[in-house]
Amino acid sequence: MSRVWNFSAGPSCLPEEVLKECAAEMMDCNGTGQSVMEMSHRSAAFEPIIKDAEVRVRKLMKVPDNYKILFLQGGGSTQFAMVAQNLGIHTGKAAYIQTGVWAKKAAAEARHLGVQVDVIASSEDKNYSYIPKVEKIEGDYDYAYICFNNTIMGTHYEYIPDTGKIPLVADISSCVLSEPLDVSKFGLLFAGAQKNLAPAGVTLVIIREDLVCDLESCRPGTPTMLCYKTHVEGESMYNTPPCYTIYVLGKVLKWIEANGGAEGMARRNKEKADFLYDYLDKNEGNFYHATALIGSRSLMNIPFLTKYAGAENEKEINAKFVKEAEAAGLVNLKGHRLVGGMRASIYNAMSLDGVKALVEFMKKFASNN
Ligand SMILES: *Cc1c(COP(=O)(O)O)cnc(C)c1O
Repeated sequence: MSRVWNFSAGPSCLPEEVLKECAAEMMDCNGTGQSVMEMSHRSAAFEPIIKDAEVRVRKLMKVPDNYKILFLQGGGSTQFAMVAQNLGIHTGKAAYIQTGVWAKKAAAEARHLGVQVDVIASSEDKNYSYIPKVEKIEGDYDYAYICFNNTIMGTHYEYIPDTGKIPLVADISSCVLSEPLDVSKFGLLFAGAQKNLAPAGVTLVIIREDLVCDLESCRPGTPTMLCYKTHVEGESMYNTPPCYTIYVLGKVLKWIEANGGAEGMARRNKEKADFLYDYLDKNEGNFYHATALIGSRSLMNIPFLTKYAGAENEKEINAKFVKEAEAAGLVNLKGHRLVGGMRASIYNAMSLDGVKALVEFMKKFASNN
């Protein structure tokens, strides 16, 4: 068996211990003689699996009692709509901070659904390479919306905007459980699982109870499936949930717990990110540089360019980097087209050894090119 160092932005690498456990239980999970893939979601065998995942989320993220935890489908992208339909219901106005593709898509979806979107700050002027500083958000907004870690641009909030009584909504798809987060500062948090929690197929939603409203109170035309209350009442089993993904999620949460919880992840992630940023900032001849500005840098997604950026042969050099890296067992390093260059996503499951292997490769590549 030969495993690679996988720097994919998502779906992304999972802890090997988790994959091995899943493999060992594939034919017979907990003496049931079935794989979790084959279980009825209403069975006595599956019920403890989903309950366990919920309990672990609550414990690891220190979710206060007045918040509901939901496991939904449709990915982060469906949350762009659900947030607008369930929260944009009093004044019909919402404040969005625009920090890149995902925040922009969320705002566009809210607008499409008839919410009046005010973009109160944006970092578009510098190709989203930083997080604007918005100390306070005021106004008659139903909610304020941020994308806490910008997977494509490689930026991350180093502060939580003060929104007073306005519920703060955050997309934490690519940074969930990468560090401790004070859930009580938010009205709603959501995360597609395929970056940092599980395989694709489940979306974690944490919503303050008072923001859960009846279907009739949602924006007109909201489908039953897109009303949070449907899933609160159904305890994430209104319809068939993504059973196997939730099972793997539970195992990843157990792994996080065994590795120091959110604090342990933060230490590990900071060490990894520092190692890579340090090299990017100080490498000989400035062959590489990080695109995200200091003070806004993600611990999870690190885009970088070479000294050929803007040159005629830039695309060729980038392609060469990606191809040679792959041959060396370092995969999925191609950058997003909006930033160019390369991107290393180093989620919780990536080890420091993986990052060291990447930097070793980068040094060699720089001296040969
Ligand atoms: C990947 C991603 C999304 C989109 O998630 P899907 O599950 O593919 O819909 C949304 N927001 C952020 C920050 C992401 O990284």
